[in-house]
Amino acid sequence: MTQTIADTFTVTNPATGESVGTFPIHTAEDIAERAAAGREAQLWWAGLSFAERKRRINRWIAAIGQMSDELCELGYRETGRPRGDVQFELIAGLEDLRWAAAHAKRVLKPRKVAPGMALFNFGAEVSYPPLGVVGVIAPWNVPIYTVLCGLAYALAAGNAAIVKPSEYAAASSVQVIDAFYTANPDAPKGLITWVTGFAETGSALCKAGLDKIAFTGSVPTGRKVMAACAENLTPVLLELGGKDVTIIAEDADLDAAARAVVWGGFFNGGQACVGIERVYVVQAVRDAFLGKVKEIADQVTAGLDENDAYGPMIVPSQIDVVRRHVTAAIEGGAIALVGGVDSIRAPFVDPVVLVDVPEDNAAVQEETFGPVIVINTVADTAEAIRRGNATRFGLGSSVFSKGRGKEIARQLKAGGTTINSALTFVGMPSVPFGGIGDSGFGRFHGDDGLREFSAPKATTNKRFQMGPDMQSFPRRPDDFEQVRKMVKFRYAKRRGA
Ligand code: NAD
Repeated sequence: MTQTIADTFTVTNPATGESVGTFPIHTAEDIAERAAAGREAQLWWAGLSFAERKRRINRWIAAIGQMSDELCELGYRETGRPRGDVQFELIAGLEDLRWAAAHAKRVLKPRKVAPGMALFNFGAEVSYPPLGVVGVIAPWNVPIYTVLCGLAYALAAGNAAIVKPSEYAAASSVQVIDAFYTANPDAPKGLITWVTGFAETGSALCKAGLDKIAFTGSVPTGRKVMAACAENLTPVLLELGGKDVTIIAEDADLDAAARAVVWGGFFNGGQACVGIERVYVVQAVRDAFLGKVKEIADQVTAGLDENDAYGPMIVPSQIDVVRRHVTAAIEGGAIALVGGVDSIRAPFVDPVVLVDVPEDNAAVQEETFGPVIVINTVADTAEAIRRGNATRFGLGSSVFSKGRGKEIARQLKAGGTTINSALTFVGMPSVPFGGIGDSGFGRFHGDDGLREFSAPKATTNKRFQMGPDMQSFPRRPDDFEQVRKMVKFRYAKRRGA
């Protein structure tokens, strides 16, 4: 939660109202200063070897590791989330830093490629120079992870960055960024900078003429980011919302599936882009599965106690979304297997599991971003796949099946699928992470995540003259004749058909 006073705002604990820190509201001028400093610093950074950049990122990891207790406490205070959940996102973010630093050279170092038959007198090289200065805009639900994830790939690829953390969770993000300079006091201060504020600050960052904006947040804001970036043709990476589906096949391990669905739906209070929001269970195992889900979910509570599974809704407006979706589902004829509208006791929302929700209901079609799981029944996995794919989103997904997991996973339209588990692709830096459709485009993580922050470049190098020189005037009739013969020789015969 935030309060604005003049040109600063205060981040407060959403459950207790405790003040956690006051931050400036940065302007377009502040961003322009950082961009100029970033351009200088980036030249220094790009001039270091991959090994030297890796050493510095690893020093940063160690500095964050040393302050992790303090950082998790801060993360808990500013969002009310259990310390365990903050630790979880911290580990994921640090693993991204470590992976990106360790693999940047392998993925991005210049490599020779075949020049092709028509130009075989040339040498050819593909290189991946950095983009320059990139902007990283982050949300409030996993603020440390989203900031570190964006920075990991951008920095390892040789870029400078300006980070705009969420106004609801700026304290931990700022601390984690500043730790870079604790670990690397000689680094120029413009290399990683941060700006704080609201939509206006984010919008100014998009219009600052940077070399890319990596945005993580909601679909409506993603649209605005893309429109603002269009002014300068600034490329964008959009990591947006989701309505992730889980399929429970007839041969699923129902105990494992129920545990994973309850955790995947209620982890972080459902305030997770890859949280499980929709489940399609095959009729044959429906009753058994629902029984197991209810048994586990009935034990899950929201609150600030050590025993509570998750904390408050971090942003008050999100409670209205939850109320609207639960009300719409029940009015539409759904059964509340666990909880219901009464589960909402702001700022907390206890678990809600809704069964048999009409497919056109808001609770099925829109991102809820709260502790609400919809479970619908299908005749078979073919119907589950069809319904699972009938959404504008396509971020994560999962499938539970002992024998057909891969076959079903291949048919799900999403950026990632986990078989017999939940959400694992997010914590694995070696595989790409991102969405399709309204879930966005572009990728963090993996080789694709590193290339996302570089501008692939072709360098061709003439080694010797071969045959007629068709790249200079005048061209002689003989030259055309030679080329004509070459065309016949190379293309007129059927090959591989
Ligand atoms: P949001 O879109 O409201 O805000 C995200 C960030 O954008 C904040 O820093 C905010 O200040 C900034 N912002 C707001 N208006 C802006 C504008 N006009 N121009 C530029 N920046 C602007 O999102 P949120 O509520 O903070 O986060 C929740 C959303 O994020 C959910 O939809 C969730 O699914 C999504 N999310 C996606 C991922 C992913 O990897 N796909 C990860 C986490 C969260």
